[in-house]
Amino acid sequence: MEKIYFVVGSQDLYGDECLKQVAADAQIMNDFFNEKFGSRVRFELLPTVVNSETCIADMRKVSCDDDCIGVVTWMHTFSPAKMWIKGLQELRKPLLHLHTQANEKLPYDSIDMDFMNLNQAAHGDREYGFIVARLKIAHQVVAGYYRHEHVLTEMSRFIDVARAINFSRHLKVASFGNNMREVAVTDGDRVESQIRLGWECNYFAVGDLVKTINAVTEAEVDAKMAEYTSKYTMKTDRVDVVREQAKYEVGLEKFLGERGLGAFADTFQDLWGLNQLPGIACQNLMGKGIGFGPEGDYKISALSAVLMKMAEGRQGATGFIEDYTYDLTEGKELELASHMLEVPVSFAATKPEIDVIPLGIGGKSDPARLIFDGVEGDGIQVTMVDMGTHFRVICADIELVKQPQPMPKLPVARIMYRHKPNFNIGTAFWCYAGGAHHSVVSTALTRKDIALFAKLLGLEFIAFGDDTTEADLEKFAAEAYRR
Ligand code: MN
Repeated sequence: MEKIYFVVGSQDLYGDECLKQVAADAQIMNDFFNEKFGSRVRFELLPTVVNSETCIADMRKVSCDDDCIGVVTWMHTFSPAKMWIKGLQELRKPLLHLHTQANEKLPYDSIDMDFMNLNQAAHGDREYGFIVARLKIAHQVVAGYYRHEHVLTEMSRFIDVARAINFSRHLKVASFGNNMREVAVTDGDRVESQIRLGWECNYFAVGDLVKTINAVTEAEVDAKMAEYTSKYTMKTDRVDVVREQAKYEVGLEKFLGERGLGAFADTFQDLWGLNQLPGIACQNLMGKGIGFGPEGDYKISALSAVLMKMAEGRQGATGFIEDYTYDLTEGKELELASHMLEVPVSFAATKPEIDVIPLGIGGKSDPARLIFDGVEGDGIQVTMVDMGTHFRVICADIELVKQPQPMPKLPVARIMYRHKPNFNIGTAFWCYAGGAHHSVVSTALTRKDIALFAKLLGLEFIAFGDDTTEADLEKFAAEAYRR
């Protein structure tokens, strides 16, 4: 099971009695965290930091343990922070600085100097905060009594985000074909992606994937078809076309699985050896947490896999989408988001139907795809763009809505949403920020999750929603060219 280490700071000036109490209190807190979060992650207490050596040993353990996704630190007493410098320099995992106390209330009647020396996070956590700031280590501070609900909520968020970052740092992404010709925003610096987010993004020949696909047996296709018909309604009688997609999916699963790849991108401009653009094959794979990006968009493929990981265990849907077209009825503006085929099945509000319909782009055979209406609810739309000097993460609050009328002639899955605070501000902000037409939409994640993710990875973060005003938009627009 994944774990989070808990490291508590003190020093040896106060004597053994004090250090025993520090360790005992830390153990009580650690046990409490396991009671609260034990089903998702195991908290493990490391030896109290009392000097530089103990800190180095603790942080090496945190950094080198592959099961460890993050570390929580807290200063029970004063803990002179020069003791933390060398240890923190070895830290390579997400850091949460918990600014708390073992005691909730002050014991006014009995408080003496011993008590005050033992319980001085107000003092020790400031000293520690200074050195983390001085070392410029990206981290999260959560303040409050550790049993209070708001503290637990933020710790819970840290666990989800740290798990996603750990996943990100191990993610391998396959590009079948290159970026769609001439498209700018889907391109990016793959070296920087690996330095900053850990993504190993590499090219694989479509022909090699086709070799794997062609080796798929009829029995394997039968099994995949059984999966499709158990989950979806077959609306077409062109079963052979659907079987072709089933073969693609089995082949993709094998190709990715054999190489430890968690995400992939394809492009309709390079489908060498394939008869159809992969449709239902991609849709079904995305429903299983595999990242996908069309038109060679490796960034959205990887980001969608990471955010699906972050949302694991939460209610709601998370997946890739493309901004497509609007209903601009004044004051009731809505967006229709979709893709040529590849809309993740996680967004389905209705039982998806499998159909085979011509595709006006790409020049291949009619592809099979899943068609459905989208889920409703409050959500976010997230994208990441390469600004040349750095990656920028953009997060817009949206409300996913039921489509106001049926669209019987639209042969693709779709979702619809309302921009916040309204269409004019929300979409203009997105444009000023340089937001892509590919994004990840989620009804499971919130702006706070993405803000924490960006903060811990040192990515620029731009967000807007109901709290954004016309003045905010104008201020951002005026400064956008200087960022
Ligand atoms: Mn697209």
